[in-house]
Amino acid sequence: MPTVDIPDKVCSHCGGTIWYYEEKRDVYSCKQLKREKHAEWRHKNIEKFREYRRNHYHTKVDKKKHYENTRKRVLLNPEREKSYRLKYSRSEKGKQKKKEYALLHPEETRLGKRKAREIAVCNLKDSYMRSLLSRNCEDISYSDSTPELIELKRKQLSLKRQIKAHGKAN
Ligand SMILES: [Zn+2]
Repeated sequence: MPTVDIPDKVCSHCGGTIWYYEEKRDVYSCKQLKREKHAEWRHKNIEKFREYRRNHYHTKVDKKKHYENTRKRVLLNPEREKSYRLKYSRSEKGKQKKKEYALLHPEETRLGKRKAREIAVCNLKDSYMRSLLSRNCEDISYSDSTPELIELKRKQLSLKRQIKAHGKAN
């Protein structure tokens, strides 16, 4: 549906000037109002909406294009995508899916874990700092480490590595 901005046609509902032109009925309807109505409908018929979306994805969507668009979105805003992924992987559904995948693909899961570990060690990631802190100190469990402790541990290790690299250079 084409959207048009008509400055002297002000919506009595929201005061907006953005309109949808519905050709079939030859009427203009407020974009904001339409959005709200749709959100309301979606909220009331959430299962129906999900079903529709699933069907649409499996029948109408060009998978290759869809994949490319997703790549583009991730490249444009990696932080936002990361936060979405984290939110999902920490949800009950995400955890369940992860378990199911691990049962079906034990080898990939093992390799993936090893790779993640290598990356974490190489880049001094939080997860690696946590595991070191909880291993070296009985009082701290994996999830107890504070951001300050993690940062200290990272500095310590980073210095150690620098000294080691310096020694090799000489
Ligand atoms: Zn309106």
